[in-house]
Amino acid sequence: MKPALKITNLKKTYGENMHALKGIDLQVEQGDFFALLGANGAGKSTTIGIICSLVNKTAGSVEVFGYDLDTQREQVQEHIGLVPQEFNFNVWEPVMDILINQAGYYGIDRITATERAEELLRHLDLWDKRHEQANKLSGGMKRRLMIARALLHKPKLLILDEPTAGVDIEIRRSMWKFLTQLNQAGTTIILTTHYLEEAESMCDNIAIINRGEVVSNTSMKELLSHLNVETFVLDVK
Ligand code: ATP
Repeated sequence: MKPALKITNLKKTYGENMHALKGIDLQVEQGDFFALLGANGAGKSTTIGIICSLVNKTAGSVEVFGYDLDTQREQVQEHIGLVPQEFNFNVWEPVMDILINQAGYYGIDRITATERAEELLRHLDLWDKRHEQANKLSGGMKRRLMIARALLHKPKLLILDEPTAGVDIEIRRSMWKFLTQLNQAGTTIILTTHYLEEAESMCDNIAIINRGEVVSNTSMKELLSHLNVETFVLDVK
């Protein structure tokens, strides 16, 4: 079985000398729930931006389910759902319209899109909000709307960039539950986070990235058994 994600010697330099990624290697197996942990500026969003074709890489290779980013970009994009860090939908649109419009980008017909959107809104506790303008939603609800939007085309790999930043603990827990169920149903998940607690509660494997380098890449169990984690996380900050 091809890995869900294989990154080899990935480098990114912004401008002349901002070496955001210094040649990272990562492999995420199909069905995995994988955490990319790192402090501010470590290179997490840059890595995700490259995988999702939002940022151009300087060197290295990226494969998603065996599809090469350089030569098979369309297939790569079809397999990925992205929940970005920033809200990037039109907040004046009603929730349902945001989802239906997104489905249109993937060529999903309106009936199927409506069915999928309704199902996702129910699972994500947004059903009552389906006719509301997105600007009326709380931060946690907007975050869940972005998860629904990312899942409309049924990607095999869901990538979330700090999905629970600024979300209160109760909503965070309900998002963890939803993501765990999604993963158990077969979707590979990668998330970036600052919180070890978040990674620990959900993820099987974890890579820690610091100043553009992967400094640890192991199973969550291994990490927790071999390291004084609190000290380690403090060290990389
Ligand atoms: P955060 O947790 O704060 O989102 P991150 O781990 O996602 O951080 P990146 O956003 O990937 O880190 O940034 C990695 C480094 O690259 C940082 O030093 C950042 O300042 C720099 N960087 C990111 N985007 C750009 C850009 N467009 N131009 C110049 N430098 C950038």
